[in-house]
Amino acid sequence: MRHSWIVFVACVLASSSSGAQRQAGAQAAVTVIRAGTLIDGASDTVRRNQLILVRGDRIERVGDGAASMPAGARVIDLSDATVLPGLIDAHTHIFLWGENPDKGGYDVNILKAGISLRAARATFACRRALEQGFTTLRDVETEGAGYGDVEIKQAIAEGTIPGPRLFVSTRAISTTGGYNLEGYAPELEMPKGAQLVDGPVEARKAAREQLDHGADWIKVYMTHRSWVDNAGNLVAQPTLTVEELKAIVDEVHGWRRKVACHAYNGIGLQRALDGGCDSIEHGLEITDAQIAQMVKQGTWYCPTLAPYYHDWAPENTPEGRRDRKRAEVHGASVQRAVKAGVKIVFGTDMGGIEWTEPIAQEFPYLVQFGLTPMAAIQAATSRAADMLDLKGEIGVIAPGAYADVIAVSGDPLKDIKALERVRFVMQNGNVFRQTP
Ligand SMILES: [Zn+2]
Repeated sequence: MRHSWIVFVACVLASSSSGAQRQAGAQAAVTVIRAGTLIDGASDTVRRNQLILVRGDRIERVGDGAASMPAGARVIDLSDATVLPGLIDAHTHIFLWGENPDKGGYDVNILKAGISLRAARATFACRRALEQGFTTLRDVETEGAGYGDVEIKQAIAEGTIPGPRLFVSTRAISTTGGYNLEGYAPELEMPKGAQLVDGPVEARKAAREQLDHGADWIKVYMTHRSWVDNAGNLVAQPTLTVEELKAIVDEVHGWRRKVACHAYNGIGLQRALDGGCDSIEHGLEITDAQIAQMVKQGTWYCPTLAPYYHDWAPENTPEGRRDRKRAEVHGASVQRAVKAGVKIVFGTDMGGIEWTEPIAQEFPYLVQFGLTPMAAIQAATSRAADMLDLKGEIGVIAPGAYADVIAVSGDPLKDIKALERVRFVMQNGNVFRQTP
C-alpha cells in the first residue's frame, strides 16, 4: 500500500518537475546569515566572520564574510553571536511529564492522563525543544502512549505544530517483570509503559509490530530495577536474554534500522553488547572490558548524566544510597569511555526531567567528565547525525545540509552554559525564533 503511494507521488512529481518545479527551485527564498563566530559541528576549528547562504530548506554555501551576496537575499545579522548547527538530543521522552515522586511519580503519567492530555503535553515538549535550539530528537519511547510519537511526528512534518525532526521508537520492549506499572494488587491488570514479551518469538513479533506502525528505532530495556547490595555495589535486574535481544536485533537490522538498549550495568549491559545492540542508553557503570567491546563493535554510548544528579532521595535510605551510587559510577564510566574513544552522543532523558527545565543542562556534565566543550557540541551535532544515518545532512553547517541553524550569545567553548541561552533558531530554512 505504502509502496504504491510512493510510486504514485513520484510519478506526479516527475510529470510536473521539468518546467515549473525547476523554476520554483531557482526562486526558493534565499537568506544570508552573517555569523560572527561559526562552530560548524564537524570541524574542530572555529571560523570568524562567515556568511551562510541558505536557499529553500538547505545550506547552499558557507564562505568568508567578504564574499558577495546574491541580490535580494534576506540578511540575518548574527555578527555578534556564535552560530552552530541545530542541536540533536538523542534520548528524550516527549510523552513523559516528569517522574517526581512528590507529584505522583511515573505512574500518574499513565493513570491520570488520557491520550489527549498526553498529546497536548507532547506538543508542548516539542515546542520547548525547538525554541531551545534542538532541531532533532531521537525520542526513545512513549511510556504507555502507544504509537502517539508517530502521529506527533506526522503533525510536525505536515506543519500542524512546531517541533524538531523526530526519530521515534514507539512502545519499547521489555519482559514480564521488566517495566512499570508495578506494585499493584496482583488481581489488577495494570497497563504497562512498554510492550512486554517473553521468548525470542514474541520479541521478534513485537519488533515487527512496532516497525510496521512506524518506529524509526527500536528501544529495548536490558535492565530494570536497581539497588545497592550489601557490599556497596550497584546492581541492576537484567530483563531480555541474549536470545531475545538477538531476535529483535536481527529483525530490526533487516529493516535497516537500529536498536537502542537501556542498560545500567552488569549482566543486562553485557547481554546488550553480546546481543548486538547499536546504542547503550544511560550505561551508568561500564567495565573496561565492556568499553573495549563497545570500541570494537562500534557501539554508540548515550550517557544521561543530568537526571542522575537530580532529585536524590534522602541520604541513608536505600533509595538515597542507590541514587548517590548511580551518579558516582556514571561520571566515572563516562570518563573512562571518553579516554578509550567510545563514540559518545548527547542525550538527556528529558521527560524524566521536566520539560520546563533547560535541555542544555547536560552539556556541563559531559565537560566535567572529560569531553572538551567542542567534543560535547559535536556529540549533540555531527556525532549524533552519524548515529542517525544523516551524516552531512543534519548536525553540520556545510553545503548540502538542511538549514538547521542556531545562535547563542557568548562563547560556548569558554562557557558551555552559553548553550542554555539560544537566541536564534532556524529549522529547514525557516526562522522559528529570533530574539535580540
Ligand atoms: Zn529514557
